[in-house]
Amino acid sequence: MKTANYSILNFKESIFATMTKMAQKNAAINLSQGFPDFDGPSWLMDLVTEAMAQGHNQYAPTHGVPELRRTLAQLYKNIYGLEFDPVDEITITNGATEAIFCTIMALVNPQDEVIVLEPFYDSYVATLNLAGAKIVPVTLYRNEFRWHVDELAKAFSDKTKLVILNNPHNPTGKVFTREELEAIVGLAEQFDAYLLSDEVYEFLTFDGAKHLPTATISKALERTITISSAGKTFGVTGWKIGWTLARGQISHHIRMVHQFNTFSVCTPMQWGVNQALQRLDEYLPTFRSLYQEKRDFFCKGLTLANYSPIIPQGTYFTVAPIGHLTGLHDVGHCMELIERKKVAAIPPSVFYLKSREGQEYIRFCFAKKNETLEKALQNLKSRL
Ligand code: PMP
Ligand code: GLN
Repeated sequence: MKTANYSILNFKESIFATMTKMAQKNAAINLSQGFPDFDGPSWLMDLVTEAMAQGHNQYAPTHGVPELRRTLAQLYKNIYGLEFDPVDEITITNGATEAIFCTIMALVNPQDEVIVLEPFYDSYVATLNLAGAKIVPVTLYRNEFRWHVDELAKAFSDKTKLVILNNPHNPTGKVFTREELEAIVGLAEQFDAYLLSDEVYEFLTFDGAKHLPTATISKALERTITISSAGKTFGVTGWKIGWTLARGQISHHIRMVHQFNTFSVCTPMQWGVNQALQRLDEYLPTFRSLYQEKRDFFCKGLTLANYSPIIPQGTYFTVAPIGHLTGLHDVGHCMELIERKKVAAIPPSVFYLKSREGQEYIRFCFAKKNETLEKALQNLKSRL
C-alpha cells in the first residue's frame, strides 16, 4: 500500500487517551485527563433536552446558531468590553479543538514560522505539523513559568506567521500578567504575526486573579483569534461546543476550513449553551468557589503527601516537582504511581519540544469529586 500522509506518520496516541486507558487497566484513580468526574448542574442538562423537544435537531447553520452567536457577542462586550459582530466575526466549532485546527489551517502555509510556548497543549503541535509549519518553541521556565525575554525576542522573525498563547495555561495553571501579554503582543505587532489565544479556562481563576483576554491588550484585537469553549465553564467536556472570535477577514478564512471540516456543530447543544450562557452571572460565583475549594483541598493534601505543588492561579490542574521523591523522570514516576499507588497523573515532557524541564514534574487534575480526591490523596500518602 502507498504511505499515508507523511505528517501523521510520527503521530502517537494523545497522552490523555493513553493515561486514561492505563488508569482503567490498573484500576487507578484518574487524575490525568482533564475532565470532571461529576455532572454539571441538572438545569444545564434540562436545557438540551428542552431544545431537542422543541425540534432543534437538524443541521445548524455552518457558522453556528445565530442566537448563540448573538449571546456570545453580548457576553464578550459586557465582560471584557470586546465588540464582535455575531454575523461575521463569531463562529461556533466542535469544541476549542476544532477552533484551533481551523485557525491554524486557515492561516498557516508550509514553512511559515509559528511560535509555541512550551509546555503546550498537545493539539497545537500536531495541527501545526499537519499544516507543515516550522514550529519555534519558547520555553516557559519553572517554577514561575516565565519566558526568558531574550529567547522570546529571538524567536520572532519576518517569517513569524502566528503566535499561540494559552491563558490561563494548561498544564501549569499560570495566569499571564498584563506586562507579559503586552510584551508578546508588542512583538506580534512588530513582526506582523497573528495571535491565537486559547482561553478555554477563562472563568477558572482563583484568589481574585483576573483573566485578561489577549484581544484587550493594546491593538491586538485586529490580529487575535480568541478561542474558548463551554466544556470547562459548565463542566461538560463532552458537549464540545467551542467558538472563535476574530475580525471579519480572519473569521472568513476560518469559516472556509470549518465548513469543509465539520460543516456545522451539534444543534441542541448549541441551543443549550445559548441558554446556559445567559445564566452565567448567577452560575459563575458557585462554579469558581467549587473549584477553588477543590484546588485548596487537593494542594494541601499533596503537600502532606510530600509533594510541593505549584499553586495554580487558574485552570483545574496543578503541577508538582518530583526530583525529591524519585530518581525517575516524569514518565517513570507516572508509571510507578499508576501501578503501585493506583493514581494516574500526566507526564508533561510530551508538552515540550526543546527543554527537558517537563521530566521534572507531573500534572494532576483536581476537577474531581471530593471523595475521589480524598481517595487519591490517601493512596499518594501510602508507602510504595
Ligand atoms: N485548549 C486547552 C488548553 C485545553 O486544555 C483543552 C482541553 N480540554 C482544549 C483546548 C480543548 O477544548 P475542547 O474540549 O473544547 O475541544
Ligand atoms: N484538555 C484536557 C487535558 O488537558 C484533555 C483533552 C483531551 O483529552 N484531548 O487533560
